[in-house]
Amino acid sequence: MLGLMQKWPLTCDRIIDHAARQFGNREIVSRSVEGPIVRTTYGQVAERARKVARKLTDEGLERGARIGTLAWNTARHLEVWYGAMGMGGVYHTLNPRLFPDQIAWIVNHAEDSALFVDLTFMPIVEKIASELKTVKTIVVLTDKDHMPESSLDLICYEEWIADAEDGFQWVELDEDEAAGMCYTSGTTGNPKGVLYSHRSNVLHAMIAALPDAMSLSANSVVLPVVPMFHANAWGIGQSGPMTGSKLVMPGAKMDGESIYELLDTEKVTFSAAVPTVWLMLLQYLADTGKKLPYLEKVVIGGSACPPSMIEKFRDLYDVDVIHAWGMTEMSPLGTLGPLKPQFADLPDEQKLEKKSKQGFTPFGIEMKITDDDDNEQPWDGKTFGRLKVRGPAVAKGYYGGAGADQFDDQGWFDTGDVAHIDSDGYMQITDRSKDVIKSGGEWISTIDLENLAVAHPDVAEAAVIGVSHPKWDERPLLVIVPKQGKEIEKDDVLSFMEGKIAKWWMPNDVVFVDEIPHTATGKIQKMTLRDQFSEYSFP
Ligand code: ADP
Repeated sequence: MLGLMQKWPLTCDRIIDHAARQFGNREIVSRSVEGPIVRTTYGQVAERARKVARKLTDEGLERGARIGTLAWNTARHLEVWYGAMGMGGVYHTLNPRLFPDQIAWIVNHAEDSALFVDLTFMPIVEKIASELKTVKTIVVLTDKDHMPESSLDLICYEEWIADAEDGFQWVELDEDEAAGMCYTSGTTGNPKGVLYSHRSNVLHAMIAALPDAMSLSANSVVLPVVPMFHANAWGIGQSGPMTGSKLVMPGAKMDGESIYELLDTEKVTFSAAVPTVWLMLLQYLADTGKKLPYLEKVVIGGSACPPSMIEKFRDLYDVDVIHAWGMTEMSPLGTLGPLKPQFADLPDEQKLEKKSKQGFTPFGIEMKITDDDDNEQPWDGKTFGRLKVRGPAVAKGYYGGAGADQFDDQGWFDTGDVAHIDSDGYMQITDRSKDVIKSGGEWISTIDLENLAVAHPDVAEAAVIGVSHPKWDERPLLVIVPKQGKEIEKDDVLSFMEGKIAKWWMPNDVVFVDEIPHTATGKIQKMTLRDQFSEYSFP
């Protein structure tokens, strides 16, 4: 027997309509690319998104058209998202930190029809314009006074929407139609496109807003430092308007001082970013002696958040860190690690241990770990396995069919991460499967070693790679960037680590460098690092 309830398509236009109706005056504050802080509201964003939809339709774009954005987090970028989705198109965030050639490849692969570009990224567009095969319209996200000189045929965003007629009716869509697109940077081979649907975006926004996830409400003031081009700003572009949270958009500036200024003047209660951003903020706070009186909670993910960072936020600033793990393929949230009630009375040290794990799945995500033969492994907190996931906001394939071997017929997506899960349901990432070190047949977690090394007061950043070893196959080499002005000795670091990990996990050597290579989303580029040390052999 079927239920007698309505079929109400889960489409993203409903999110922005809801925001406009219920929270029409709730503010969206942006640090504009032109400089000043600008203020708008959900009501205005919804109205301008309709103008974007009207103009895109007038330009001849059709349902399903991919609409690229090379833009920072600002209200204008949000208008383009909702305008694109509302006319039946697909917003396609491009990561400007990729090499221009790679961006051109992605635009061509996705067959973007239009590009919306912040002034900052015009040099990229100038460079790749001649290679772009499908882009017919380039809109610069600025006003007339700031339009750049160019030989390209450019449209000025503010002028473009100024003459658009109001009241565009959102196109009626099936909830399974595509809404957004994002390519993962791909540490090997070409980048792969993830194609979000309206339904997956709406469900993911609901998941993201849950109390044990980001806990968003109409009373929240949210600063998404994580860019919209990095896996949808982890869903905040949708869960913000869905819940009526005030949004504070950082634009192009993510240094400690700029982020602090927004946290303070806008009284931000919640924020989300990768560890590197928080490192810069914590350094700024340490240098200036400033505090964080309004900030209650931050979600940290994208790469492993060192326990020392969770501790600092807790002890010095009374801010609760939620460590999270996810992937572009998961929209991106996978697990989050707040404390379950049974741990409320644990001593601080043990609480920290639990909170340092990547956490448990909210409703809507299933996970399991398997061995190489796909046998499910126990949740005992020590057996490592390949981490696999499924759920309504997890990809079932890549755009164009690449990477088909990562998906099985039961819907499980192989994340390429290696993890263990404890009996309380907390998952801990120990490595990317490509980065794991196998010493004498046993796995050593490079992430654990890196977390420990960065807890040393003079270490700015650490990376561990496997180097071949005549007896053990591979042994860990610890690569360290010392904090500015600090000199560290190898023995300092090793004796700091001693006793905190199994003896056979101790790195065989420590080398000091000025810089560790990073990917476009801020992760340590282990492959490049391994290339750099390809000639290295242990003393
Ligand atoms: P990319 O940066 O390659 O485009 P993603 O941003 O989707 O892609 O990266 C996802 C990967 O980042 C995960 O598979 C995992 O390896 C890593 N990652 C994300 N969050 C964490 C975390 N909290 N701890 C450790 N690794 C993480």
